[in-house]
Amino acid sequence: MPQLSDRVGRFTDSVIRRMTRISDEYGAINLSQGFPDFDPPRPMLDRLAQVAYEGPHQYSVTYGAENLRRALAEKHGRAVGRTIDPEEEVLVTCGGTEAMMCAMMTVCNPGDKVAVFSPFYENYGADAILSGADPIYIPLVPPDFSFDPAAVEAAFQAGAKAIVVCNPSNPTGKVFTAEELTAIGRLALQYDAWVITDEVYEHIVFAPAVHVRMAGLPGMYDHTITCNSLSKTYSITGWRLGWLIGPAGVVENAKKVHDFLTVGAPAPLQEAACVGVCFPEQYYRDLAEQYREKRDYFCSGLQRLGLHHTVPQGTYFLLLDISDFLAKPQFSGWTDMAFCEWMIKEIGVAAVPGSSFFREPVNHLIRLHFARSKESLAEVLHRFEKLAEILRQ
Ligand code: GLN
Repeated sequence: MPQLSDRVGRFTDSVIRRMTRISDEYGAINLSQGFPDFDPPRPMLDRLAQVAYEGPHQYSVTYGAENLRRALAEKHGRAVGRTIDPEEEVLVTCGGTEAMMCAMMTVCNPGDKVAVFSPFYENYGADAILSGADPIYIPLVPPDFSFDPAAVEAAFQAGAKAIVVCNPSNPTGKVFTAEELTAIGRLALQYDAWVITDEVYEHIVFAPAVHVRMAGLPGMYDHTITCNSLSKTYSITGWRLGWLIGPAGVVENAKKVHDFLTVGAPAPLQEAACVGVCFPEQYYRDLAEQYREKRDYFCSGLQRLGLHHTVPQGTYFLLLDISDFLAKPQFSGWTDMAFCEWMIKEIGVAAVPGSSFFREPVNHLIRLHFARSKESLAEVLHRFEKLAEILRQ
């Protein structure tokens, strides 16, 4: 075979999405790749049905349909307390995944450094490589996944041109406090660096935690590129719609990257999504409440079974600690990947090996999501009785 680029040899396929394929192969309940098993809101589906006959079916404006950009500018503007120009400061992308890729490619030259908290959502590693940047990892330290501001400063001192902040954080479920974000922001200003946020779980936050937006902190708008997605907020992960909002100078360039990567997000789906982006505040309160109920139900079930896990402040992910299993002779020397494969085949539940999120050599955590109906979660807990049984042996 003629030679390929070096860069494709530097990362693997997504472990999250690989676990979905293995889960499907064995017919397991898939708590690996995070997506809901319930329908998007009805008004969005009604609009989608209408659009099927009325259009649009051809390209929208490459950087996003005007009505969707206007709705996003209004919604994000309200959240960060400023007027956002839908023409100059908003870019609609094919999912949060493309938004993050565009942000990285817009900001980074080959050889540049980007600071990333570890554990991190696995895409950032590949994003950095594809945009030519080298990641500098900053540990989030369990149990509360706090960080040392000195480590953030050290990353900037080592030349990090940007820092990626996933908030609420996948996979830890951490919600960064205003103080933490202010500390990061202050350092970004001091070192004249970008903050690239990934806020796709902004509406899945559980009281008393509150979601604070980096772009809304004093002085931070001009240093922040906010990446987001409609996937989790409206349960439409397959529509592949996301967005990027930031100061006009950066968005103007991100638009160029986007134009040549994908031309644009699907026009009919943008039209139907616009209905959701215009929902009143109550929709988001109900969404958070629905996920809080799922979290509490699932966590209390795991607790009852004696399985140790993190309790997320936001997102629909938790980390299950499998140390007690790995200490047993039958699992001795196993990797978290081997454990996840075994769990798919023998227990009928899929998770993601934690090692795919950590820079550090972590082997004792696996990630589960709870964006599932109560019936599915009940069935998972029922299947996990087998795990509890193993622990008792
Ligand atoms: N963010 C989701 C997860 O971590 C999946 C996103 C994706 O696969 N594009 O599972």
